[in-house]
Amino acid sequence: MSGFLSRLTGGQTKEAGQQDEASAPAPVPTFNHASRARLLESLENSNLGWFWASDADGRLVYISQPAAQRIGKPAEEITGRAITQVFLPIEGGEDSGHERPFKFQLAARNSIKPVTVLLDLGKTKSWWEIAGVPQTDAEGNFTGYHGIARDVSDTYESKRDAEKMSRYDSLTGLANRHRMTQQLAATLTAFKVSKRSCAIMLIDLDRFKQVNDTMGHPAGDELLKQVSARLKRILGEDIELGRIGGDEFQVIMPDQDDRGVLGDDAKRVIQMVSQPYSINGMRAVIGCSVGIAVAPFDGIDEEELVKAADLALYAAKGGGRGQFRFYSSDLRDRASYRHQIESDLRDAIAREELEMHYQPIVDVNTHRVKCVEALMRWNHTDRGMISPADFIPVAEEVGIIRELGEWALEDVCKTLQSWPGDIIGAVNVSAVQFASEDFVGIVQRVLNSTGIEPGRVELEITESVFVGDMDRAQQVFKDLKALGVRLSLDDFGTGYSSLGYLRDAPFDKIKIDQSFVRGCTAEDSKNDAIIAAVVSLARALNMDTVAEGVETKDELAAVTDEGVTHLQGMLFSRAIPSEEILARLEAGELVFEPRGPEKYRPERRTEFRKIGLIHGNDRYNVFLRNLSKTGAKIEGLLEVPVGTDFVLDLGGGQLAVATVRRSEGFSQGVEFETSLISDGADGLCTRHRVSPYQIEAAGKPLRSLNDETVAAITGNFASTTKAFVEVEIARH
Ligand code: C2E
Ligand code: CA
Ligand code: CA
Repeated sequence: MSGFLSRLTGGQTKEAGQQDEASAPAPVPTFNHASRARLLESLENSNLGWFWASDADGRLVYISQPAAQRIGKPAEEITGRAITQVFLPIEGGEDSGHERPFKFQLAARNSIKPVTVLLDLGKTKSWWEIAGVPQTDAEGNFTGYHGIARDVSDTYESKRDAEKMSRYDSLTGLANRHRMTQQLAATLTAFKVSKRSCAIMLIDLDRFKQVNDTMGHPAGDELLKQVSARLKRILGEDIELGRIGGDEFQVIMPDQDDRGVLGDDAKRVIQMVSQPYSINGMRAVIGCSVGIAVAPFDGIDEEELVKAADLALYAAKGGGRGQFRFYSSDLRDRASYRHQIESDLRDAIAREELEMHYQPIVDVNTHRVKCVEALMRWNHTDRGMISPADFIPVAEEVGIIRELGEWALEDVCKTLQSWPGDIIGAVNVSAVQFASEDFVGIVQRVLNSTGIEPGRVELEITESVFVGDMDRAQQVFKDLKALGVRLSLDDFGTGYSSLGYLRDAPFDKIKIDQSFVRGCTAEDSKNDAIIAAVVSLARALNMDTVAEGVETKDELAAVTDEGVTHLQGMLFSRAIPSEEILARLEAGELVFEPRGPEKYRPERRTEFRKIGLIHGNDRYNVFLRNLSKTGAKIEGLLEVPVGTDFVLDLGGGQLAVATVRRSEGFSQGVEFETSLISDGADGLCTRHRVSPYQIEAAGKPLRSLNDETVAAITGNFASTTKAFVEVEIARH
């Protein structure tokens, strides 16, 4: 605010008056009335400040000539108008708060404190800071204002831009993190009072960094713009959508707590974002993962809710990309487990806790082994064996995978050389490793330093490396082939399946993912047709095919029928330490005969979990088995009549109304009133949950869901007249 203006409008007039009366300095003789008029005129013309005056009816009766020029109209055309038509309050923006005070000041005939107003009479708009002092006649009647004004358009515009910048992301035009945080905090505070719910979605792009690194930052920027446009289209223009980090987006969804709807929305987002993009004539493919949390269930305030959504997002990413997850309280426990793994993994190599085991891949006809897959094993000092499925994703996340990968490659090459014969060793390459710039260089260095024959090294690469810059991927394949190593395409069919790239990529082998082998003998399974199609494609391209994860004899028969050339799986052997392979090799040829169950048994979703059961005013503990979308099998209550209705407390505020359909001894088959929905992972969940607002209404403090408070309001533990008898069930 300008000191100049406040001097003119504050208590200054009074001060001046006092000065006149009390200690008036001797008048300067030459500075008379005319001089004073000239002074004011020169001030007006200097554009440092202008004058305006209004009459008792609020009409503008005078405005400095240069001020009128700035507006773009002769002064005569401006005077006579109401000052409220000339000086417009600013709408929107931070300054909107002035609107009421400005009009209020005028109506109350108060002095006008410096305020920024908009002038919009001529061709160009301008912003002025104005101030005014009310005038009165001898009787004390209001006669209008005398005021001053100056043009502040330059500073106003830059301030407004800066403000806009600080709320909107300049690249995509979406709200930025700052605005989203403010918006969410304000929404949640208001909703807490009106007892409304609000969901948020965190959307994180998978493999964006790869595009950015390989295609360049301008391409990355363009991709982000296109992603934003797609998100806006899917979610609608009205929804509050922001970019809160490099490749992370947030959506605020007021009054949404139906996890069925949220899951469907998330699926749609994932599907749309994963469609290919065209950037400067090049094709790029990325994926995305989504984490969802709902207030007040998963968090009451902004911080708690975002943290919950973050954990859900993290779980979605860890579960293989391209998935969504709802927040649940056990994610918190998993997060701390992961944290532990992360810190221990850094020392694992140094402490020599890592070891490579080898799983034979046998020829379909002879069952002879020409190739073994190296699989990493981590024997943790305190935790025992940790599965690579648990620690490899963490290693990718925190960037240790390159180190691990290099160590693995080197270890395998050395081991291969310690074995007699010319067995091939297949080494898994993470997409993160593959994306690193020096990947080919590292392979070359390891080949040289160990002196291994390059043809004995096979690199297993998953489809996900095709996500991002395809041209670069093709170039890396070429460079690797030039080194003489073999390439195999791992987990085929699970990723961003696009057969197009197969034609040009120099793979020696396709590994058909276990998920196609598993259950390929079931009657209604289409897996056998898929396997047959992959086999004929591979044959045409002169590639070997491996059926992964063969566990039973009927699977063996099926995949043999489909024509795969190689087999891998527990039926032949699990991964075994290198010494065992060595011992077998020294004893002669490496042949593995199938040993295992005849038939594949469809996996039933068998659970053995303690849950609550609410019947009338009573709460029981029962065991949950065989949960499906439409019903469940429970055990633990004796002789419950068919037709009995009760509520199952599945934990986390999930209550499912159920009716007993079958009953035998201590076991009942129940049907849910409302079907469960997918939780994004392999599990099921209810659409709705007990609202913390309900719990609050029952006299508890408002806080996010936890099982104790839900239990406390859903049944009386102390009842002595329970309708059913609870029995002890042993785990079986
Ligand atoms: P993958 O590359 O698909 O490896 C095959 C996985 O299937 C191995 O699990 C193997 O033990 C398992 N498997 C083999 N036969 C059967 C079967 O008949 N039935 C079933 N159910 N499973 C079978 P593992 O060793 O736990 O490895 C899991 C994943 O971890 C691997 O999947 C691979 O993606 C990753 N991984 C393992 N070692 C390394 C490594 O050294 N580097 C990298 N980058 N990734 C690795
Ligand atoms: Ca593999
Ligand atoms: Ca595999």
